[in-house]
Amino acid sequence: MEKGKTGIDGTVVLFPFMAHGHLNPFLELAQLLSTRIPSFTITIVSTPANILNVRPRFLSYPTVRFSELHFHISDDSLPADAQNTDTLTSQSAVTRFYHASESLQPSFHRLISQITESDGGRPPICIVSDMFLGWTVDVAHSFGSHHVPLYTSGPYAMSIYNSIWTHLPQRLTCADHLTFPDLPGVTIDRTQLSRSMKSATENDPSSDFTIRQSEYCRRSDGSLWNTVEVLERSSLDNWARSTGKPVWAIGPLLPNSSKEFERVGKLPGLSPLVCTEWLNQHPPNSVVYVSFGSQNTIPVALMIELAKGLEESGKAFIWVIRNPPGFEVGESFRAEWLPEGFEDRITERKQGLLVRNWAPQLEILSHESIGAFLSHCGWNSVLESLSRGVPIIGWPIESEQFYNSKLLEEELGVCVELARGIDDMINGGDVARMVRLVLEGEEMRRKSEVLREKMMTAVSVVEGVKGSSLQALDHFVETVRMWGQKYSKGGSL
Ligand code: UDP
Repeated sequence: MEKGKTGIDGTVVLFPFMAHGHLNPFLELAQLLSTRIPSFTITIVSTPANILNVRPRFLSYPTVRFSELHFHISDDSLPADAQNTDTLTSQSAVTRFYHASESLQPSFHRLISQITESDGGRPPICIVSDMFLGWTVDVAHSFGSHHVPLYTSGPYAMSIYNSIWTHLPQRLTCADHLTFPDLPGVTIDRTQLSRSMKSATENDPSSDFTIRQSEYCRRSDGSLWNTVEVLERSSLDNWARSTGKPVWAIGPLLPNSSKEFERVGKLPGLSPLVCTEWLNQHPPNSVVYVSFGSQNTIPVALMIELAKGLEESGKAFIWVIRNPPGFEVGESFRAEWLPEGFEDRITERKQGLLVRNWAPQLEILSHESIGAFLSHCGWNSVLESLSRGVPIIGWPIESEQFYNSKLLEEELGVCVELARGIDDMINGGDVARMVRLVLEGEEMRRKSEVLREKMMTAVSVVEGVKGSSLQALDHFVETVRMWGQKYSKGGSL
């Protein structure tokens, strides 16, 4: 293969969406690629705050570079310091952020032009973008680069999510059950729609946005997925068939520890050591971990019922508590948001540990005393839980989380759903029953353990045979090399 002016075999650009759950898989991919193809430069594009945050993790990766992109805040009605959705306090601000990300197109074009110039006129071989930055396909193709989205959720959930926003079936019928023209056999309940989906109107901005991004991504040259074949083989096959492009399931893309990537926004959290010491006091599989991810929170009334239920269950728990919707992330947590005397009682009895804002989730899930995860079913949380063999109590809140929960419960049998969204009223008694059911049950734990083993096999070499995710990564890397060769021989797309 000919080398460019810089002596490298080429550049692969990675452009994640600026949200904790999206950045993480991209950073894992950057590390994998820089190890697999050390003669390539891997350039990560993001806003300055994200880059500042992640740069230390790459000190021992000399081929990983960073390029900054800046929002023009005044144009996009975003808070002045918005560089990442982690610091935004309302769903509407998150939605504005999504839309504002499209305004980065001219700056991204300039950046690719600079990369091309600095490599003697040779453009990046491939641009791997987030699924929400599908517009990058036009920039990529205008330079003769290939384009591949990395989906940070699985194709089972993404197919339903995209189809809802594309066809808005909730607007065409009053029925409780919704079906999709492009997904034969798939049915969802109206309660599996997020608030914004329920209130979607014709020409809804979220619908327009999703339709645009998914149409862009259909023009890409293949798709990478942070999922594992064993979790959703038929959905991967369907995606490949409907797009006519290769799909590479290379997951789970997970860091080894929470320390590898701290969240932007510097929220105080609890150290892994404190959590581990607390968990050490409890027998194996006896504790439920409760968290709604990096963005979602629940209203006070639900928080109080959840607290009552956890206490009534008699089981031990670690709960990451965050301010209810509508309150600033940095504001102090108020005692009246929990039942009177709750924290004192559970602390004294060593029944519960409340963690403000942010917990070292990976370390917690890896501890042998954790027996269940009450989760909002964000895809990273799902992969982290399953890769530790921990069954899930589902409480999806937003976007595709409802369909992650559906996959886990209906197809994989490793989840029971407690509630849906934040308009669903729960009562403490139901929480207590479900926590006991999952912690004391054998069946879901056994299935979760089987899945854990299969997921580990996917990223291992067993008797000389590479697992499915390693094979998919090999195939992607070979494809990038082949694209690079074509380019250096003067070929184009
Ligand atoms: N996370 C964490 N501590 C917390 C909450 C979240 O480390 O207190 C991490 C979690 O391990 C996961 C990510 O944040 O990697 C959340 O991603 P997910 O896709 O589950 O949900 P999202 O936050 O995107 O809704």
